[in-house]
Amino acid sequence: MIQENWESVRKTIKESCEKAGRNPDEVTLITVSKTKPVSALREAYEAGSRDFGENKVQELVDKIPELPADIRWHMIGHLQRNKVKYIVGRVSMIHSVDSLRLAEEISREAQKQGCVVDILIEVNVAGEESKFGVSPEEAPELVEKISALSCLRVQGLMTIAPFTEDPEKNRPYFRKLKKLSVDIEGKNIDNVNMTVLSMGMTGDYSVAVEEGATCIRVGTGIFGERQPQQKALQAAKGVVKWE
Ligand SMILES: *Cc1c(COP(=O)(O)O)cnc(C)c1O
Repeated sequence: MIQENWESVRKTIKESCEKAGRNPDEVTLITVSKTKPVSALREAYEAGSRDFGENKVQELVDKIPELPADIRWHMIGHLQRNKVKYIVGRVSMIHSVDSLRLAEEISREAQKQGCVVDILIEVNVAGEESKFGVSPEEAPELVEKISALSCLRVQGLMTIAPFTEDPEKNRPYFRKLKKLSVDIEGKNIDNVNMTVLSMGMTGDYSVAVEEGATCIRVGTGIFGERQPQQKALQAAKGVVKWE
């Protein structure tokens, strides 16, 4: 099932690229494996996935040693400063940087380890109260400040669009993120690239690809429905049964 789903997502990416006159090689499919057991990740790996996304530090560091070393791990969830030290040097990109203080902590840890960390700036394009991310208005200034940190490399922008049944509703947000990245690129800030646009999830990735996404993050579309994280925890403790 996982292999079929993986192939079907790849096919949809290809079709969206054709529609938009893009090369499918420009689009990285990140397999979002949060809450999924290592066996499921292995199946996705065997289907061809080499990029995996997780949103919790603990789960990420538990899974890394269990899987092949050629996987590129992406931290896509909200990151607390006190957990930065566990993932620097182990993930290939942090998608969720939304404050100078967090960026400073990542840079400090990177310096300690003698590495450079690729990051994306998370932008809350729809202005949803429940979501992390800087506003589009604040983004250029944050990028400029972060560009002064020597052990970080800003590679682009990331957004989590609103949940909707109709992906067309998110098209304006994807356009807005693309435009913002072009505007920031135009400032020619040292140490800053705007090559990565991480946008689009199971419900809306085809529209995101049409609008220029270079990374899409797909979980449900590959693995099927998730157990809510809380419930998964309770199930692990035997409090409730898996459905
Ligand atoms: C869970 C998650 C996804 C994937 O969501 P699906 O709808 O299952 O594809 C993408 N991005 C982030 C940041 C997530 O937390």
